[in-house]
Amino acid sequence: MLRLTGPGKIRDLVVSGPKFDPAATIISVLYNFDIDGDAVKPQHREWLKEHVVPQLGDPGVKITLRGEASRSGSDDHNLALSQRRVKNVERFLRDFGPLSATLAVAAFGEKDAEGRGEDDKTEDEQVRAVIVTVEMSAHRLVPPTFDFEGNFMGFDDTADPPWLMLPAGSSSRLMRINNGEGLTLISSNPGVVRVRSPFGSSDRPIAVSQQSQIFRVLPGITADAVISAVDRSGKAHAKLAVSVLRPRTVTCAFHYVRNARYGSRVRNPSDEAEFLDSMNNVWGSQANISFRIAPGGVREITLTEDLGDKIDTRPKFDRVSAHRFPGVQFNVFFVRDVEAKPGETSTDGFTIIGPPGDCLFDDFRESGDDAFKLVLAHEAGHCLTLDHNTPVVSNNQMLMHGIVTKPFLTKPQVLQARRAVIG
Ligand SMILES: [Zn+2]
Repeated sequence: MLRLTGPGKIRDLVVSGPKFDPAATIISVLYNFDIDGDAVKPQHREWLKEHVVPQLGDPGVKITLRGEASRSGSDDHNLALSQRRVKNVERFLRDFGPLSATLAVAAFGEKDAEGRGEDDKTEDEQVRAVIVTVEMSAHRLVPPTFDFEGNFMGFDDTADPPWLMLPAGSSSRLMRINNGEGLTLISSNPGVVRVRSPFGSSDRPIAVSQQSQIFRVLPGITADAVISAVDRSGKAHAKLAVSVLRPRTVTCAFHYVRNARYGSRVRNPSDEAEFLDSMNNVWGSQANISFRIAPGGVREITLTEDLGDKIDTRPKFDRVSAHRFPGVQFNVFFVRDVEAKPGETSTDGFTIIGPPGDCLFDDFRESGDDAFKLVLAHEAGHCLTLDHNTPVVSNNQMLMHGIVTKPFLTKPQVLQARRAVIG
């Protein structure tokens, strides 16, 4: 009679030779089937989905299912019960589509329990089970993942699939694939991106033989492509999107405002150099966008408007930014103090006025540390139409976070910002 026994359980067996290759064999026991029950429990299904389903398309893989039962009830009854258990596991696997792997199914009733010396008429959750053996397993107990190797930006692993930006004409980069043993790396379009071994120059597909392996990517023409990690049947287990992007240039100008009350007290021409470096580092490496100072784009400008000590209203912002260079996309005005009021502007304390995307930048913080230099790169993001939470809700790892400490840009941000570049 059916008696429910709670969640399904899984136990991995230690694989030893010579019958099995320990490096390429998984043997696990899916147990605690209900007493007199044959339902594959959710925990068993999850395990099968994670460990066996990804290998079903691989003709080199051999899967064996062995049904068992404990010794209460008659031999015939237990044989039929173990058959139903193993058939249900088989059906679960076959529901995932055409099978290229070899699948062998057998049922042993209570014989396994008997062979282990268990007394007749006893119950044991360990033998209310289906034993799953996967030979020639690609040994991927977790899905393959891509990562970058070394120190560069331009890889967005929050995208699905993860995304790599390669500046057109740039040199090759090293990437890494984890948990990809047995797979082969191929490019959907070698004219866009080639995949090579770290030191070789052959364009043959790269066989992944290590748990963690480095490979090289080489950009070609400007377009999108996908690098896939495929098994022997051609099924992709992981993908890496690649875009080779042409350079785009944002013109900018730095206006050092001179006024006894609201002019900058601490900033002088040439200070823009370190801001520009930071902007180009952040935007160049991740979006292939560079910032170039327009002719005459660094200047001291004496303003005579009476605006008080602080730039703290929208009309005052407008009075200052009226001195912008009209043909220049990103105009930065250095002033003494900006105090943004809610609703007056799009904030940051430093204030951006957009559109068209000019920035008033105050003296409040001295330049120096790297995080601070990121602030102008962040304001440049506003100039290029990005907001803190559109098109992506920013977290504290991201350039567009309200309090910027990290340079990271996501793929949607990169693509939107590039579309906003004028010219
Ligand atoms: Zn902001």
